Amino acid sequence: MASAAAISSSISSRSLLSRDSKVALIASIRHPEPSIATSAASGGPRLRRMLARPCCAVEPTKRNDSVVPPAAVAEAANAAVGEEATAPSAAVDYEELNKALENASPLEIMDRALDMFGNEIAIAFSGAEDVALIEYAKLTGRPFRVFSLDTGRLNPETYRLFDAVEKHYDIHIEYTFPDAGEVQALVRSKGLFSFYEDGHQECCRVRKVRPLRRMLKGLRAWVTGQRKDQSPGTRANIPLVQVDPVFEGIDGLGSLIKWNPVAGVEGKDIWNFLRTMNVPVNSLHSQGYVSIGCEPCTRPVLPGQHEREGRWWWEDATAKECGLHKGNLKQDEAGKLGTNGNGVAAANGVDGTVDIFETQAIVNLSRPGVENLLKLEKRQEPWLVVLYAPWCRFCQGMETSYMELAEKLIGSGVKVGKFRADGDQKPFAQKELQLGSFPTILFFPKNTSRPIKYPSEKRDVDSLLAFINALR
Ligand code: SF4
Repeated sequence: MASAAAISSSISSRSLLSRDSKVALIASIRHPEPSIATSAASGGPRLRRMLARPCCAVEPTKRNDSVVPPAAVAEAANAAVGEEATAPSAAVDYEELNKALENASPLEIMDRALDMFGNEIAIAFSGAEDVALIEYAKLTGRPFRVFSLDTGRLNPETYRLFDAVEKHYDIHIEYTFPDAGEVQALVRSKGLFSFYEDGHQECCRVRKVRPLRRMLKGLRAWVTGQRKDQSPGTRANIPLVQVDPVFEGIDGLGSLIKWNPVAGVEGKDIWNFLRTMNVPVNSLHSQGYVSIGCEPCTRPVLPGQHEREGRWWWEDATAKECGLHKGNLKQDEAGKLGTNGNGVAAANGVDGTVDIFETQAIVNLSRPGVENLLKLEKRQEPWLVVLYAPWCRFCQGMETSYMELAEKLIGSGVKVGKFRADGDQKPFAQKELQLGSFPTILFFPKNTSRPIKYPSEKRDVDSLLAFINALR
């Protein structure tokens, strides 16, 4: 067992190499001249959205050098941070960091990610060849967490792989599940295979995107197995590290960091690595499956066919994202899809865009309804109203918290509403409702018609509740 002092020393890739001879084999997918640097933020408005704070709230202490502990119980306090660890309060320019990592190996990138974020980062494991990420994490010698989305529609082989991986690495995968009520509503109204008729986005939203969103809200960073060669249409430009353009972390939108350590690695090299390291793999791969998702939406591909041709084969080949990596789609592609960025198919919106904030706890206000609120000098109950556009990713980003808030406020004496304020309604909302950008949140107090605009960009439940409680 290594001493605490040895453990607390910086883990350079060199020390990793010497510690585990297997790692030498990684050279097959390592770029020369690794160069990793964290650059301090230079500040300024242009960079603001790209800056996010790594956790490093954990002290540079020690880590277990000999055992990879059960992932779910890995403790941040025991997570090592290397000599180059960023100070807790320092902002990091992730565009610069991405450039600096250009020549780093996946192992080095993984090491840097785990080093920076300790217990507040988790690896997303789909049950396919992204088991490579877990192997890299193990090779860093650092504690790590793994989560997986159990959609309820996976192949039996995938569940068996989960079990094998847990045993092989002595970890507990943090499974996340869809909301039972949402699945029930979808299946009862549309049946078990609605995705073959009206697209996979709605089902993916319920079974994957929302559970993922809930999971990510508890993290500062996540690691994915996305690779550029997986989808020429949507993944050709994915960076090694980026501020997540779609999902929120603990501190809201713009605070979550997404690491893609194998972005630049080709599928064949991942497979060489998996074979060499002798790790468990999904037995579906030996039956011709390459990219593996849910059972009804995945099929084997023929030699020469692209791997994504085995996913949602009845849909447009250039837009095969389930919503988990929706940020890969360019705006015009998302528009063509008629999706709202949450992976919702065009089905029930006035312009083909599916609505958001759909729960009985939120009143859908029409223009006359909002005009009434503006007229009433005295109302029985105060109102909280979001002015939104369903295609706006910031509105999508606050969907879960706003819906949760609305559920919490049932019976509290505060009504919660939404008003779609794009299109024809925009000039009215700008003039009468202080709409500057989407989303705008207004509180209509009991005794005055004049709404008070929520001033913050924090849109988590607690912040919104504090705002309401201060005014009600
Ligand atoms: Fe539903 Fe298919 Fe998406 Fe799985 S991949 S969540 S079954 S649409």
